[in-house]
Amino acid sequence: MASTATIDQDQKAAILARYAEERDKRLREDGNEQYLELKGQLAHYAEDPYSERTAREPLTDHVTYAFVGGGFSGLVSGARLKEAGIEDIRILEKGGDFGGTWYWNRYPGAQCDTAAMVYMPLLEETGHMPSEKYVHAPEILDHCRRIGEHYDLYDKAVFHTKVESMVWEAEQSRWRITTDRGDNFTADFVGLGTGPLHVPKLPGIPGIDSFKGHSFHTSRWDYDYTGGDPDGTLLEGLADKRVAIIGTGATAVQIVPHLSRAAKEVFVIQRTPSSIDIRNNEPIDPDWFEEIATEGWQKRWLDNFTANQGLGYANEDLVQDGWTDLTRRFRERIKDLPPDQLTVENMLAAWEDADLQKMTEIRARTDEVVGDGETAAKLKAWYRQLCKRPCFHDEYLQSFNNPNTHLIDTDGQGAARITEKGVVVAGEEYEVDCIIYATGFEVGTTLERQMGFHPVGRDGLTLTEAWEEGMRSKHGIHVHGFPNLFLVQSAQGAHLISNYPHNLVECARAIAIMIAHALKSGAKEVEVTKEAQDQWVALLMTGPGMVIGSTECTPGYYNNEGQPTDESRYFVGYPHGAQAYFAYLDGWLNSGEFEGVEFR
Ligand code: NDP
Repeated sequence: MASTATIDQDQKAAILARYAEERDKRLREDGNEQYLELKGQLAHYAEDPYSERTAREPLTDHVTYAFVGGGFSGLVSGARLKEAGIEDIRILEKGGDFGGTWYWNRYPGAQCDTAAMVYMPLLEETGHMPSEKYVHAPEILDHCRRIGEHYDLYDKAVFHTKVESMVWEAEQSRWRITTDRGDNFTADFVGLGTGPLHVPKLPGIPGIDSFKGHSFHTSRWDYDYTGGDPDGTLLEGLADKRVAIIGTGATAVQIVPHLSRAAKEVFVIQRTPSSIDIRNNEPIDPDWFEEIATEGWQKRWLDNFTANQGLGYANEDLVQDGWTDLTRRFRERIKDLPPDQLTVENMLAAWEDADLQKMTEIRARTDEVVGDGETAAKLKAWYRQLCKRPCFHDEYLQSFNNPNTHLIDTDGQGAARITEKGVVVAGEEYEVDCIIYATGFEVGTTLERQMGFHPVGRDGLTLTEAWEEGMRSKHGIHVHGFPNLFLVQSAQGAHLISNYPHNLVECARAIAIMIAHALKSGAKEVEVTKEAQDQWVALLMTGPGMVIGSTECTPGYYNNEGQPTDESRYFVGYPHGAQAYFAYLDGWLNSGEFEGVEFR
């Protein structure tokens, strides 16, 4: 998209006023409490429709490393540990196979939103060439299995297994783990990679349990009912069905074109529109790939994307997508500022201007694509692009030109009621055969609710207690009081949102180096000192804070539904940006000193 829009001060003031108005309309006192947990009568929404749970004997042995989560976190940790010569690794996963989010999210149209060349981890190690710039979900799930096989991680992995407790046994310097399959075993080291978005939630719309038709959550897609498959085959089971989809986030945006193609009628129940930028997907040319895929290629691409997307600097932009577009505009604005003018205030102002321009263009695209002016107006997102997850699609907006596809806008209020027959919005009942809940996942709820257990560290301290006043860690990996426990996630590390797996790969590398060092040096315990942890957290607090999801944003999971807490300000990354963080971590690891972390 060309950067053509120029915005004068009056226009800017009007846009910002509209942003505030749209946010205020959506703020609600119940915040996260508005959503329903999938338990009791709603528990069936969380059942695994993809694979049978098979019987197995409980485990009562000991392993070197146990990891909770078989998504990218577990896979890349397992891979790096194996490369470091550590063989005895057990991954525990609640799904029926590796894949994590890609195991669960098999809805039609599911696709990565970050270029596969940087999004898919360990491409070079496994010798896989992505088929498209933004590959579809089945290819990513296959890649997860490929990593599992390539590194022999299936051998000791256990699936359909939920951890119930994880307790540090100080005398033996090891962790004891129990699960819902009767397992009761120990591990020298443990890792947590449960991911930020894996517990599906439902909207607390009155009457939700009264609907007599068919319904399911997008992360448990019912192909038996809809027909079709995750490869995008027509959902022929919907040919005579009226379908409502509730929610218009990144998931719904990918699904709606498939419903629009297949169903008799589609009602898209919208509370807040997503911003829909151009996708421009294309197949990857094997000749081109062969040329660029020389030794070290994926690291070069990762570094380049991070430099372009984070606060770094790069001479070229290899990925060239919607993520790097926004930061390119930002850099354009600051490149001529003298060093003493590169203040946090000036950087934030440059972000705001780049964002205003970008969002103005995205809103204009809606008018270009959607035939009906009234519908186009309702599909426009009135907030800063990173207030909510940016979306990229070349068929979503177009679906609303199809006469069977109706946008049911709720003006920020959500559906009023669900009845036996359908969904009520603004006093009108839309009778449907099926309701699909594209209402996302738990984010701001308690750690225990999300993980299903509390890790209990030294002196009986739980992780929830340790983080009572907000997350405390060094590098987002180590927590004082929790020896031999490693987190694999992004916060308090690089916190590179646009390419989440990159954070995981770097965590995994660090952990493998440290565990190998512990084993080699005979250390039984690895733990960050309180002082080092405090210093790290203090350093994080010198940064600009959350650029995404501030209180000025329209509510969503990025800003705890419009109610940022004191704790949420700790959910940040390295103050100098992701590129600088990765360089720093590299130096920290290479020094061999592991400053701030004790090996006992
Ligand atoms: P989201 O939480 O982003 O969206 C949930 C949707 O449900 C929102 O549109 C929300 O509206 C709506 N909603 C909630 N309650 C109601 C209600 N009572 N009435 C009407 N609508 C309601 O979930 P998604 O599953 O879409 O996405 C979750 C995340 O998963 C993404 O942000 C992204 O990080 C990831 N993802 C990544 C993809 C990729 O890489 N390709 C693809 C899909 C998802 P409101 O906005 O008003 O709260």
